[in-house]
Amino acid sequence: MTEKNTVVYPGSYDPLTNGHIDIIERGLKIFDKIIVAVLRNPAKSYLFGLEERCAMLRSVFGDEERIEVDHFQGLLVDYLKGRKVLTVVRGLRAISDFEIEFQMALMNRKIDSAVETVFFVPSESYSFLSSKLVKEIYQLGGHVASMVPEIVDLKLKEAFARGA
Ligand code: ADP
Repeated sequence: MTEKNTVVYPGSYDPLTNGHIDIIERGLKIFDKIIVAVLRNPAKSYLFGLEERCAMLRSVFGDEERIEVDHFQGLLVDYLKGRKVLTVVRGLRAISDFEIEFQMALMNRKIDSAVETVFFVPSESYSFLSSKLVKEIYQLGGHVASMVPEIVDLKLKEAFARGA
């Protein structure tokens, strides 16, 4: 049996930002359960290791039983099959996200025609926010504590203090 009211929200979460949290909160208004699936892509280099990325998510969502933090490697459609979930959630910040998200949604459907992708639009205040930009700011000695959870702010300061 597929879990119809459960969705998978895949991403790198390197690190989690308030933009991701905004999407998760919107998702919980519609779906019963969200599996936040952290991607481990050996070809990509991350600031935070898989365990650290998952730990930050768990520390933010630890008490919320409708959110599960998991990780995966390889094809998303294979992960979905294993979890018996048909729906993927993604965030659309701006037109610039559209092209790549559209391609990914169609490619996933091509590989497995049962897979659907649902997009949520975040609050405008997060429409310019990305993990990449956040890392660049901290690397240059700035911080944007209002854009990331407290634990992420601490971890970013720590990471760049040890000269990441
Ligand atoms: P990527 O998938 O490029 O590694 P992320 O892991 O950061 O990037 O993103 C996972 C998903 O979350 C993507 O759908 C992305 O568009 C979305 N997302 C990231 N940041 C935001 C934000 N500020 N507002 C809304 N959605 C976001």
